[in-house]
Amino acid sequence: MTYIRGVGPRIAALLEARGIRIAEDLLYHLPFRYEDRQHPRELTQLKTGEMASVIGEIRSAGLVRTPRQSLFEIVLAQGTLTMKCVWFNGAYLQGRLRAGQQIALFGRIEASRSSRNLKMIQPQFELLPEDGSDAITRLLEVGRITPVYESLGGPQLASRWQRRVIFQLLDSIRSQVPECLPQAILQRNGLPARERALAETHFPPDGIAVADLEAASTPAQKRLIFEELFFLELGLELKRRRTREQQGIAFQTTDATRQAIREILPFHPTAAQKRALGEIVADMREPHPMRRLLQGDVGSGKTIVALQAIVVAMENGCQAALMAPTEILATQHYLAARKLLARSSRNYRIALLTGSLDADAKRALRGQLQRGEIHLVIGTHALIEENVSFHRLGLVVVDEQHRFGVMQRFRLMKKPTDAEPDVLVMTATPIPRTLALTLYGDLDTSVLDALPPGRTPIVTRRVAGERAAEVWDFVRTQVAAGHQAYIVYPIIEGNRDDQQELDFAHDPEENPATASTPGPGLRSAKGPVTRPSLKAQHSQPTPAKPRSRRKSAPLFVTQTAPRPELRSATEMYDQLRNGALQGLRVGLLHGRLNADEKDVVMRRYQRGEIDVLVSTTVIEVGVDVPNASVMVVDHAERFGLAQLHQLRGRVGRGSARSYCILMTGNRVSPEAEQRLEAMVATQNGFELAELDLRMRGPGEFFGTRQAGMPGFRVVNLLRDRELLELARQEAARFVRSPDPEIPEAERRCVWEHLKQSWQRRYGLMEAG
Ligand code: ADP
Ligand code: MG
Repeated sequence: MTYIRGVGPRIAALLEARGIRIAEDLLYHLPFRYEDRQHPRELTQLKTGEMASVIGEIRSAGLVRTPRQSLFEIVLAQGTLTMKCVWFNGAYLQGRLRAGQQIALFGRIEASRSSRNLKMIQPQFELLPEDGSDAITRLLEVGRITPVYESLGGPQLASRWQRRVIFQLLDSIRSQVPECLPQAILQRNGLPARERALAETHFPPDGIAVADLEAASTPAQKRLIFEELFFLELGLELKRRRTREQQGIAFQTTDATRQAIREILPFHPTAAQKRALGEIVADMREPHPMRRLLQGDVGSGKTIVALQAIVVAMENGCQAALMAPTEILATQHYLAARKLLARSSRNYRIALLTGSLDADAKRALRGQLQRGEIHLVIGTHALIEENVSFHRLGLVVVDEQHRFGVMQRFRLMKKPTDAEPDVLVMTATPIPRTLALTLYGDLDTSVLDALPPGRTPIVTRRVAGERAAEVWDFVRTQVAAGHQAYIVYPIIEGNRDDQQELDFAHDPEENPATASTPGPGLRSAKGPVTRPSLKAQHSQPTPAKPRSRRKSAPLFVTQTAPRPELRSATEMYDQLRNGALQGLRVGLLHGRLNADEKDVVMRRYQRGEIDVLVSTTVIEVGVDVPNASVMVVDHAERFGLAQLHQLRGRVGRGSARSYCILMTGNRVSPEAEQRLEAMVATQNGFELAELDLRMRGPGEFFGTRQAGMPGFRVVNLLRDRELLELARQEAARFVRSPDPEIPEAERRCVWEHLKQSWQRRYGLMEAG
């Protein structure tokens, strides 16, 4: 980097820390917004309140000390007219701005309190070259649409610095930026060459509308977005092709197989379930391995579809494995599978393998799996941790959460002589399509887009914590009517954040001690509030927060400080059981119970021997107790949108009307407010996911980076859906049919570029 003008070793190190290692990285650090500073103005034309650019001579300059601060003040002159400009804490400008210099300024015009004159406060400025020769063309700060960059580290590497360095860099490498996309593709889609795209994105030429720039819809910007997406899609396309070239198992489906998968059905499958199973079975019949994602909102009935696929594998003499993220869920799948498979006339043998199984039992089970005596094994991560090997593994079903890494490790479990097993990933996380394409880009997708019949919509209400008594009364009524209830708390016990369950910690902003808006929370004390539609909320700008702030925000700083009351599962269990819910059968479930204890509680709840389950988010995913009709989430302001949706999905599984009651503590941040409103407004997981994505940004969507989300440098998935589709089509076309319009040399350039960019940028995804 140090060969770039303006970049010495010290700055190169700073840049490196921000992931900028080569000139190309800097060129792809694009403006995040633009300021219209075209047409410098005469002082006589200025009006209070407008943003304007002004060029003039510094008449006088100097530091003015007041008791509270030091202001740097200049008087700008255009002929005989003058205007004051002021910078707070402006000592640093002393000596830099001097009388006689030509200066360009951009900022808001304010009325001056003391006189009728106008003034500028904290304007951006640029000193004009003294010789004046090519002053205007080299002017980066005013008289043009000016790019504004996210700082690359402190004020030192702020916008102004970047403008200069990038401008000089572009100037010095003119016509040396290699094109990486074929001409034919560019022409087809009306996209400019790479070099021009870069130059015009940084320094838009005259005549470009700022609104188009802000929408990233200029041809130059579209070209850069397309480029990034094209190489992503090309890489994914290759991965898909590689999978297709691998030797898989071509499962057979005969009448007997069809009979076997019908036998286990306790109900008529929905049209969506039939279609998904059709797609899965079609893949399974192919001689190459299946890589398919089964996506369906909570309660859409994914389990039975997966079990039918498993039956196909078992009917073909293969073994199957089903992996769940938690012991509770694995156990539940096991019980469900046992019940459904018991309907079959075949004699399938199935087993449960979790971490809590004792060593002897595990050893025995490993032996049975190796000899092929077990047809279906259901388990947690223990499945891949226990060195299991199979007699003949044909199908792996992965439920929820686990993504890329898992599949490869499953591959390690097969014998080298085996064919690749088919893989089906199930997810209830309603991933917006754009994101799914990227996250699971090399998987084919089946979607369960309709719920099984007979479901009544869940009634969702917000209630302030003060009205808890009414909520407990309601729970009692529901239990009296023969139903069951969940009551969920964000923490296990105590008043401290380090006790929280699972991924609750991801959003430091939700820490009630740091949220500072008691207003909205109090408002809901008047009663459950119904909100306007989601649409209205979508239109509210939710500016992306800088990542760095999120990361560095201390999560637990407030641990020892006094804090607002935070109700916990353990305490409320005691309190409710001896108070408001006395006489009901109340159970307690949380992550610190051992597996057996959890198992006992869950089974009792499932059998209806517990009326009310007080719990943490351990029940978040997948738990299926159709008789439960009430979900109370306390401190709902502390949960993420995806989590709330998952929790709500635990009810509404039977035919009875179900209720989700979102109780709040006394501090609700504006973001939390928005989430709760969305929950009340819609039950559609996809809509909620879109909103979540909007509010949190794709990187935060899954709470972590582990999902293999590539770090885009130009692309914004929400904004660039259409270009993603286009890039996908072009990438597929490029791989599949050798386009006679694209000469061999250009093809080689594309592959070379892919190799480099994939390596550098998406290495993470390769790991899966
Ligand atoms: P999820 O997609 O959330 O995993 P499940 O597979 O747990 O959903 O199914 C939710 C509930 O719906 C279960 O109780 C299941 O038995 C029931 N179910 C699934 N499919 C149907 C159907 N076609 N008709 C009636 N009930 C169904
Ligand atoms: Mg499920």
